[in-house]
Formats: sequence, C-alpha cells, structure tokens
Amino acid sequence: MRSEYDERSPRTVFETGSLARVSEEVERLNKKRIILVSDESAKNWAEQVNEQLGELVVQHIDHVVMHVPDEFSAPIVDQSKKLGIDLVISIGGGSATGLGKILALDVGVDLLAIPTTYAGSEMTTIWGRTRNGEKLTGRNQSVMPKTVIYDPALTYSLPLNISANSGMNAIAHAVEAMYAPNCSPEVESASLEGIEIFSKSLRTLVRDTSNNQVRSDLFRGSMLCGFALNNATMGIHHKICHTLGGFYNLPHAQMHSAVLPHAVHFNQSYASKQLDVIASTLNAKTAADGLWQLASDIGSETSLKNIGYHVENSDHVAEFISNAKYENPRPFNYEGVVGLLKNAFNGDRPHDES
Ligand code: NAD
Repeated sequence: MRSEYDERSPRTVFETGSLARVSEEVERLNKKRIILVSDESAKNWAEQVNEQLGELVVQHIDHVVMHVPDEFSAPIVDQSKKLGIDLVISIGGGSATGLGKILALDVGVDLLAIPTTYAGSEMTTIWGRTRNGEKLTGRNQSVMPKTVIYDPALTYSLPLNISANSGMNAIAHAVEAMYAPNCSPEVESASLEGIEIFSKSLRTLVRDTSNNQVRSDLFRGSMLCGFALNNATMGIHHKICHTLGGFYNLPHAQMHSAVLPHAVHFNQSYASKQLDVIASTLNAKTAADGLWQLASDIGSETSLKNIGYHVENSDHVAEFISNAKYENPRPFNYEGVVGLLKNAFNGDRPHDES
C-alpha cells in the first residue's frame, strides 16, 4: 500500500444556515479588505454577505464568465491590487469559484469559497483560465481556499437539471480518481462514498426537492468527489471535456454527464477491477451502464448532440487529444477518441460495436 499527499485541505464549515457565519470566518482569518465575487444566481446571498461584512467589502463583482477569460479577469485583478485587497470571497457555482481562484493567484491573496453547485472546485488546488481562446489549467497551493462554507440551503434554488448535471460532473471526478495510477486507499474510499451518495440522493431529489437531508448529503458527496479530484490524476474523460470546453465552450456539467458513460465504457477492460466495484456501488451490470442509467433517470444530459457539439469536429478534437500525453488505463489513439466522441454524440446506452 502506498499513499502520498502534499495537498492541504481547507477549513470547512458545513451547516444549513452557515452563510450567516461568514463574518465570523473572516474574523478568524483576520482580513480587512475584501473583494466579493458572486454569480447571477447568488445576488441575494451576496447582499447578505455585504450586510454582515459592511465596510470590509471594498469591491463587489456581481457576475462571472465560465472558464475565466483573461479579458474579464485582468481589469478586476488590476483594480484589486490598487485597492489593496487581502481576501477574495466567492459565492456561486464553479465559475464563481474559478474567478476567485484566479484572483487568489494573480493578486496573491487568500480565498474563502461558498459553493452553490457540486462542481467541487473549492476542494482543489486546480485553477483554470482562458487566454487567447485557449483553456489553460494548472495546480497551485495558493488557490486552495483557506476556508470553505457549505450551506446546503443555498442549493434549494438550483433547478433540478443543474443539480443532476452538476452531480454527474462530481461523479466524473470520483470515477476517474478510482482508476488513476496514483489512487490511494483514502481517495478510493472518498470516491466510492461520493458515487454512492450521488447515485442515491440525486434519485431521491428528483422525487422530493424539498428534502433537507438530501441537500446536505449531496454537498457532502460533492466535497468527497472534490477531494478525489484534488488527490488523483484524471484520465481521458477529463481530457475530452477539457478540450471540448476550451474549443467549443460547451456547458461544463452537461458535457461531463454526456461523455462519462462512454469514457468509462472505453476503459472497461483496462480498469475492470475498479469499474466493477463502481458497478456494484451503482447496482448495475457495468459501471458505464449504471452511469448512463443514472443520468437518464435523473434527467441529466446523455448526448453531446443536445448541447451544440458538431460531430464533424471529432477529427480535429481526436487529433489534438491523441497527440497529448495523458495517463489513462487504456492507451488511446485517434480512432479510439473518434469512436468515443461518436458514442457520446449519439448518447445511446453504451454498448460494444458489433
Ligand atoms: P457554473 O458555475 O457556470 O454554474 C452553472 C449555472 O448555475 C450558472 O448559470 C449559475 O448562475 C447557476 N447556479 C449556480 N448555483 C446556483 C444555485 N444555487 N441556484 C440557482 N442557480 C445556480 O457551472 P459549474 O458547473 O458549477 O462550474 C463550471 C466551472 O467550474 C467550469 O469553468 C469548470 O472548469 C470549473 N471547475 C473547476 C474545477 C477545479 O478544480 N478547478 C472543478 C470543477 C469545475
């Protein structure tokens, strides 16, 4: 058995109603000049934070752009430096956390993150930005939030389809962590628990959106899957989604949901031990089948066709991906990626080509 960690975890506050504790957490960090970043969905919560913190908030950015284009973040970075900001607070989905991380990186300040989706970015040292049309990512300890506040009450406003797709995005982190070459026993446990929570709780959520226990469980699942993402390398599924997101700006969570069953099917014979455990957690014949069934049951995206991907682009995407160096259980080449993309485009239940 071997396991290695060099990542620190953020202080985590997890409680329904914990949005009211932002000022207490800011005091704990001893910060005095704050930039607040919130997405459009977080308007009311941003107002509550503004009220709690009063004069400590010296700047408020109330909208965000997915994948943080430089044109959007650069003026905010400059302004933050001029204002002598010492803390970023982000409230919203992965895009709000993403802008918070770029500010943490470029301004050199700490981040307090308040997530409202299951993307899991708040648990990682991974940053992402778009420069000259190209999506860049990297790892840096400085973007790991100092504090994360999980308030399940903030997820009640999530439309069911965003909850479902965002949950599938979280599951994708856990699935790829399970077959990563550096998967440790801790990552494996977190991943399996995360997958199990999402599989059960998303199905319950579809039947009962007012269930408070389920709201908490889903956030806990998201925290576990974010931990898995942070502590394992990702495989072909993430490489494909990263490339499609960068080239065609497809909606992030929906794209993950559509590609995952087919990426897993592609890897089945090369990671059968791990994928069979996932299959049994999902109570399914195969992991790919169980994931596709879950996505179908909860109304999550199953086809790239529905989200604006043009299958004619697959040559270009496959050429790009097959030239990249990427750890994946099954070695991949141009034909393999084209086939996987075709299957994710069609969105049928994963099956072997006859
Ligand atoms: P998002 O942040 O773009 O949010 C999707 C939509 O949901 C937006 O319209 C948003 O306003 C809305 N929304 C968010 N929370 C809501 C709520 N509680 N109620 C109602 N509406 C709400 O999408 P996302 O899937 O959360 O995040 C995607 C981004 O996160 C991508 O840029 C991706 O690359 C990044 N990401 C980064 C990491 C990392 O570790 N760095 C991990 C996962 C995702």
